[in-house]
Amino acid sequence: MDKYDQVIELAKRRGFLWNSFELYGGTAGFYDYGPLGSTLKRRIEQIWRELYVVHEGYMEIETPTVGIEDIFLASGHVGGFSDPLCECKECKGAFRADHLIDKLVPSAETMGNAELDAAIKEHGVSCPECEGELGEAYEFNLMFKTQIGPGNGRQGYMRPETAQGMFVDFLRLARFYREKLPFGATQIGKSYRNEISPRQGVIRLREFTQAEAEIFIDPNDKKHPNIERFANTMINLYSDAGQDTGIVEKLSLADALDKGIIAHEFLAYQIGLTNHFLQRVGIAGNKLRFRQHRKDEMAHYAIDCWDAEVDTDRFGWIEIVGIADRTDYDLNAHSTVSKTELSIYREYAEPKMATQFIVKPNMGQLGPLFKGKAKAVADALKAMTQEELEKDEIKVMVNEEEYTVPGDIVTFAEETTKISGETIVPHVIEPSYGIDRIFYSVIEHAFLEEKLGKSEDDEEEDARIIMKLQNEVAPVQVAILPLLSREELIQHARSIENRLRTKGLLVSYDDSGTIGRRYRRNDEIGTPYSVTIDYDTVDENTVTIRERDSMKQVRAPISGLQEVLYDLMYNDKEFESAGEAL
Ligand code: AMP
Repeated sequence: MDKYDQVIELAKRRGFLWNSFELYGGTAGFYDYGPLGSTLKRRIEQIWRELYVVHEGYMEIETPTVGIEDIFLASGHVGGFSDPLCECKECKGAFRADHLIDKLVPSAETMGNAELDAAIKEHGVSCPECEGELGEAYEFNLMFKTQIGPGNGRQGYMRPETAQGMFVDFLRLARFYREKLPFGATQIGKSYRNEISPRQGVIRLREFTQAEAEIFIDPNDKKHPNIERFANTMINLYSDAGQDTGIVEKLSLADALDKGIIAHEFLAYQIGLTNHFLQRVGIAGNKLRFRQHRKDEMAHYAIDCWDAEVDTDRFGWIEIVGIADRTDYDLNAHSTVSKTELSIYREYAEPKMATQFIVKPNMGQLGPLFKGKAKAVADALKAMTQEELEKDEIKVMVNEEEYTVPGDIVTFAEETTKISGETIVPHVIEPSYGIDRIFYSVIEHAFLEEKLGKSEDDEEEDARIIMKLQNEVAPVQVAILPLLSREELIQHARSIENRLRTKGLLVSYDDSGTIGRRYRRNDEIGTPYSVTIDYDTVDENTVTIRERDSMKQVRAPISGLQEVLYDLMYNDKEFESAGEAL
């Protein structure tokens, strides 16, 4: 068993992750979150909300997971959101063509279908399932199609990202934020991608959760008012240039900006915030890097993109967050398809006086002369310069045909007007988080097999599996363990359990099996503290608190126990100060 197998085995056994539809044999690309998994996932999402919604002020919205066709025509997903698919001529198995050869050739991901076919042939690649001959690669659109309404109802698609819902709501959002840049919206929700052959377990899902922010900023001002917060944060940066030599550089964000490695402050701030979030939920700092998109992999409209990548035992470095400056691409694309201007109007602090060259063709005379072409001729005249217009006979080109306009029916002059504002199409900075991949990385990085010098509580065990989850994300914070299943101990235990629940702590109660085994069970699911109730509890109103990582124990009074545990959990209280050392 490699680490992935160990982690998934534990996750299944202890109620974190289950294969979906297991009763009916299951299908690849879908996972259920069990009771502990759901709680852990929600807690990760809650920290994201705290950072993006509460602190940054990018308020959360909720838009449908099904979208109409126009949205995905505009976004480019109908035309281009596809992967190369190769089918086996014998067993009909389906495979990602680039994945079939990515160990054999460099940058298979950027190859076209003809190149993929040639490489598959050259390397004699056959079907991984039955060794049959493979057919030619073709593009397979990854969106799940659906029909909206009965009969020939409208074509719909399950959204492949949450982002489009926020672009489509742009005008409403702009009004909500009183058209003051920068502003942003966030969304946490399900996205759907009909991945061709998801063989990477929880890493590549067909239904997954994204947490995305669309931050609309002034295209002419990409400075961040709060950049100081992360200026000195050291980040593992795997820049475009670094990837030529395979070197990851540890740099402060201020240095990376000074050297021009990161395009601007707004992106750098998002890298800092992502780094902060990921480490706070428990991603190991030494297994985290930010990789810049290479020129040939970046979308043509994007200015700069960085992926947060984590190192995993089986899959190596995987992308868990994408951070991009998408410029005005999405708003312009939706503006074109919806035929609606998606921009904001910004009033200047002081109106500006501007001198403009104004051309006024006399329409009363142009009409009879040029009939149906009169408007096109007038528009062409308006685009001409003073020098071109100062003629007795003005030559005008309309649709590659030349027309002659008498000079005396066109007047022109320089006019000074007062301009009180301007229309702006904002640029978009988008951090896009894959919550399921973050979830998996958190439990893999927390997973530890620890050899113990001597056994604890006389149990004959010299190793334990422990999930060193951060207190803030642990799905169970305190385990209540009566030493024996006796009435008087149970009564005390239940009453302590209630008090901790009322305080808002996540508590489990467990009275089955030996105490050593119960400690092990809680170590495995990452419970930071256990409270043991014994006969001294009955006599002296005290309990034993055990700390997961150090396995140290202290004796503490029952009164005020909920505050002590709360402070251990949230306020960095020293464990030694929680009671008397045992
Ligand atoms: P993308 O829009 O492709 O940049 O995806 C944004 C984030 O969503 C990625 O960084 C991943 O963490 C996550 N993601 C994308 N595709 C999948 C998938 N098939 N399964 C799970 N997570 C995914």
